[in-house]
Amino acid sequence: MPTIHEELDRRQLLYSLLMPVMNLYVPGLDKGKGLYFLFVKAETKTPGGLLARPVLTSYYNSDHFKTRPYDPFNVYTSPNEAILCVDSFQSMYAQMLCGLIMRDEVLRVGAVFASGLLRAIHFLQNNWKQLAHDIATGTLNPKITDAPVRECMRKILKPNPELAQLVIMECYEENWECIIKRIWPRTKYLDVIVTGAMAQYIPTLEYYSGGLPMACTMYASSECYFGLNLNPMCKPSEVTYTIMPNMAYFEFLPHGSSTSCLVNLAEVEVGKEYELILTTYAGLCRYRVGDILRVTGFHNAAPQFRFIRRKNVLLSIESDKTDEAELQNAIENASLLLKEFNTSVVEYTSYADTKQIPGHYVIYWELLVKDSAIAPTDDVLNRCCLQMEESLNSVYRQSRVADNSIGPLEIRVVENGTFEELMDYAISRGASINQYKVPRCVSFTPIMELLNSRVVSKHFSPDLPHWTPERRRS
Ligand code: AMP
Repeated sequence: MPTIHEELDRRQLLYSLLMPVMNLYVPGLDKGKGLYFLFVKAETKTPGGLLARPVLTSYYNSDHFKTRPYDPFNVYTSPNEAILCVDSFQSMYAQMLCGLIMRDEVLRVGAVFASGLLRAIHFLQNNWKQLAHDIATGTLNPKITDAPVRECMRKILKPNPELAQLVIMECYEENWECIIKRIWPRTKYLDVIVTGAMAQYIPTLEYYSGGLPMACTMYASSECYFGLNLNPMCKPSEVTYTIMPNMAYFEFLPHGSSTSCLVNLAEVEVGKEYELILTTYAGLCRYRVGDILRVTGFHNAAPQFRFIRRKNVLLSIESDKTDEAELQNAIENASLLLKEFNTSVVEYTSYADTKQIPGHYVIYWELLVKDSAIAPTDDVLNRCCLQMEESLNSVYRQSRVADNSIGPLEIRVVENGTFEELMDYAISRGASINQYKVPRCVSFTPIMELLNSRVVSKHFSPDLPHWTPERRRS
């Protein structure tokens, strides 16, 4: 996405409105700190030599963030050095350690997306012993080698056996229900986006937080920041975002209607759904973001929108977005490995399994084995998983390789006839036989139950796909 320096001011403007709005609903947030898990990623160069990095990496690396003036409403437990460390393990470790050390001061816990906060909890599950050791002894885990992080942790870390004991007591038990409230008892709410694709994480977050409110404060993208939620303590299902007209020029394409006439921001109609179209200061012109929004009402004259869904995205675990065409391409590439076994993929569907952390893609395959004497081996099906991963986009592969935030892709081979049963089921629920299409992504429980009851074998990617920070010329 093209961007320009002044775009940082617009982003800063939106950020600066979040706490004044929150302060209307949750008093006293200036009396403590926010435990936020924020990360940067490695920078790359485009073939033309321009710097390329994720939008948040760009923001956290800017002076707007790094040299922000003291504001009692925006004090974080994470030092800049920890946030700006590109090694995701070291960054998370230092942020978690600071969060534990400052546990009594923490009033809100968050990450950008729900998936990020769950990753942090999972990290605590895996690393609490070492973290408690560091707190007890006042020494830093030798795996933390980043010099700025070591230097700043040296000032923060002091031996505190009592706190270490508390961490051990809370984390030692199998039961992690309510862990956020147990470790950070003053937490008033979770600051995470749980709308759109992130809604899948609500039950898990409720479990770990003991039902703390979840605030979805803003709606933004790499292309442009859009707006904020003026009622951030509402239920996730009721979240609406008010688009700020000064962030870009916004137009709206009526969704699901044959007209291609664009509607201006001030002219959208309540109840209707639109696709968001942007013209940005940085040079995008009538660009289709791919988000479908529904107008729910107005704040003064500014329309408010519910995020409905992203067009064409089938699978998403965190920042990855895999659409139907990409999935199809990945399946085609993987199925080439089956050729020598005289086998083909007759049908497939997919599922984003986020029950475990990290989540992973599950692909259901129905195979046609033409000669059972040379049926594909376990090994080749495992390699099919890896081949699919190799075919997926670089955001997916980066999450797999560098961030470890997506687990190995899984193929579940189902019995012959399973997809026919799936169709029978859809028809029994009113689908038209003529117009029936195999769903390329599933999540509806009865369908999942049907598929899972027909699984004959499961296969996982045996290795990491290829990914390097350098962009390859293609
Ligand atoms: P990215 O450019 O990768 O950061 O992704 C931006 C996309 O994430 C948006 O276009 C939306 O599809 C989604 N997104 C961002 N903020 C929200 C939100 N508050 N609720 C739902 N989806 C969101």
